[in-house]
Amino acid sequence: MNNRLEELLKSRVDLHLHTTMSDGRLSPTELVTLCAKRGLRQIAITDHDSLEGLPEAQAAAADLGVDVISGVELGADETGREVHLLGYFVDADDPELSSMLAGFRQGRTTRGRRIVERLVELDVHVSWDRVLALSDGGAVGRPHIAEAMVEKGYVQYPKEAFDQYLGRSGTAYVGRERVTPAEGVAVLVKNGAVPVMAHPTYYMSGDGPKEVARLTETLAGLQQVGLAGMEVHYGDYTTRQVEMLASVASELGLIQCGGSDYHASGNPDETEPGKVGPPPEVIGALQDVRGRLPGQGEA
Ligand code: AMP
Ligand code: ZN
Ligand code: FE
Ligand code: FE
Repeated sequence: MNNRLEELLKSRVDLHLHTTMSDGRLSPTELVTLCAKRGLRQIAITDHDSLEGLPEAQAAAADLGVDVISGVELGADETGREVHLLGYFVDADDPELSSMLAGFRQGRTTRGRRIVERLVELDVHVSWDRVLALSDGGAVGRPHIAEAMVEKGYVQYPKEAFDQYLGRSGTAYVGRERVTPAEGVAVLVKNGAVPVMAHPTYYMSGDGPKEVARLTETLAGLQQVGLAGMEVHYGDYTTRQVEMLASVASELGLIQCGGSDYHASGNPDETEPGKVGPPPEVIGALQDVRGRLPGQGEA
């Protein structure tokens, strides 16, 4: 593909990005700078269980002509299934949400320590101090443990650590306390944020009619409590996946969001910021929903 065409096909909007305040490897300033360089105009910072990267990202963005939407990603769990929720236009001054997120981060630390203990039992000698150093004060995540394993030569890439040890069926997997998806949606709505389901295919075991019906049912249930959108344009989704999800979203009237979920993870072939994303109109659609949330009227 020639450069001009590639340029035109790139998205100017990326609503799913991580920084060092969770498991991303670029600081908020480095990430916003990269996004600006890649021609992005509107981005959302969506760290796991943390709003701490937002002030720095917003300060950096002001100088670079990029709009930063305040976002967050929450991990929810229901009957052994993990569902990630993105919240947009989060009120970062809400003490209730801030203290809830601090509690989730504490749970991540405890869980991370237990995973490291299990790894040592499995003869994988990574040190908890190293994992903490890699997380650098941000929300501890399994990718920090994976990075420590890469450093020690146990695996070549972080994703291999997930395949064998850290993924849900891995030998060192340890869960953590999470809200249910409905509770997560309610937490976001209460804050005044717009809830969106992240990477829906991660919760599906295929794309047959049964699986699509199950996803549709889950989404419809969450819509009852305030879910406003779902990711349709995401990471390395194929055209077929995007079409399937777009059809579910349009059937339910959910906003079709998306982004790269960029972490600068060190994995090969990672989707770069702006490689995929929704059309710019989705931002207006998300803003409209926000204006209609209780307590958000144009008083
Ligand atoms: P945690 O927040 O500790 O539950 O870890 C989840 C994070 O790990 C996700 O946000 C991804 O960044 C990363 N992750 C999850 N699954 C994989 C995988 N199979 N390969 C590489 N990274 C993964
Ligand atoms: Zn992550
Ligand atoms: Fe996620
Ligand atoms: Fe993410």
